[in-house]
Amino acid sequence: MKYPKVEISADKIAFNVQKLIKDANDRGIELVGVTKGVLAHPQIIDAYLEGGLNYLGDSRIQNVKRIRDYGFTGKVMLLRAPMLKEISQVINYVDVSLVSEHKTLEALDLEANRLGKKHSFVVMVDVGDRREGVMPEDVDEFVVDSQKYENLQFLGLGLNVGCFGGVLPTWDNAQVLVELKSKLESRGIEVPTLSGGSTCGISIMYKEQLPAQINQLRVGEAFLIGNDSVREVKIPGTYQNTFRLTAEILEIKERPSQPAGEIGKDPFGNTPHFPDRGIRKRAIAAVGKQDVVINSLIPEDKHVTIEGASSDHLILDISDSQREYSIGDEISFDMEYGTVLFSMNSPYVSKEFYWNTI
Ligand SMILES: *Cc1c(COP(=O)(O)O)cnc(C)c1O
Repeated sequence: MKYPKVEISADKIAFNVQKLIKDANDRGIELVGVTKGVLAHPQIIDAYLEGGLNYLGDSRIQNVKRIRDYGFTGKVMLLRAPMLKEISQVINYVDVSLVSEHKTLEALDLEANRLGKKHSFVVMVDVGDRREGVMPEDVDEFVVDSQKYENLQFLGLGLNVGCFGGVLPTWDNAQVLVELKSKLESRGIEVPTLSGGSTCGISIMYKEQLPAQINQLRVGEAFLIGNDSVREVKIPGTYQNTFRLTAEILEIKERPSQPAGEIGKDPFGNTPHFPDRGIRKRAIAAVGKQDVVINSLIPEDKHVTIEGASSDHLILDISDSQREYSIGDEISFDMEYGTVLFSMNSPYVSKEFYWNTI
């Protein structure tokens, strides 16, 4: 099965990696290559390694396993706190966990002891986004307590923004980590790593608005599509056109833009509303909400608009297009991060990698 398909310019991803590593290293920042958006696909790992990454991260233990099965022997970070039910695999495949609960640390310590292994951890701090992390006022005590685990090594502090609460990364919220670090160091606890967030940290790095003590960023989107979707800005000097989706057209018909009949909810819990735009020429492409996020899909034909989708059908308005579409034609789209994530995770979408696109 070939369609829908995603074409991936692996060489452009490798280029993005190389460019960002150089600019980050110039500022004393280490980068972790995040693979969760692409199911830790082997060819993306190739692109990351080709670009010079030697430290990878993923939020899912299954993807970490995939990274190890691929043969990667470098450092791997688990980006979501380990589940108690997966501790054994975490100790076996992961070097560094991001944690915010002592119960997790206790389980890691016990299992590391049992398997005769060492494990490292970064304590996550909630600097305002209100997803995970120890509250800043509790960090001191949390870290002091966490020195007792004999099989675990405390590496430092981490933050996340732009994920749940939509909080933007700033000098001030990164500075929270810097202040906590100096407090801990005054108590004799070394804090070698300050992990200052994700792609959105890259944007502020370029604006020189990242405190100098931040020495690590965990990056996916900037490598994969050269974009920061939190600030909706392109990362300077990188490629954006790295992923392209193509689907086949199944049907073309003129029909009223407005549904007729009593309106209930769609399967996703939304009540659809469509303005009356008269009779429009509509095409259906064979791809749906199981494979894409429609508001991060951009038709290459600028005169085509996406009207919506169901799980398997993408509804397009082609009335204003200059092209004469026919049944069986291919139609292509630029992909933003949300769609990249869904498509790479969808078994219905085939993936084609290219290494000669620059
Ligand atoms: C996904 C994730 C990242 C990477 O985010 P991007 O926006 O893709 O750069 C970094 N840290 C954590 C904890 C994550 O879950």
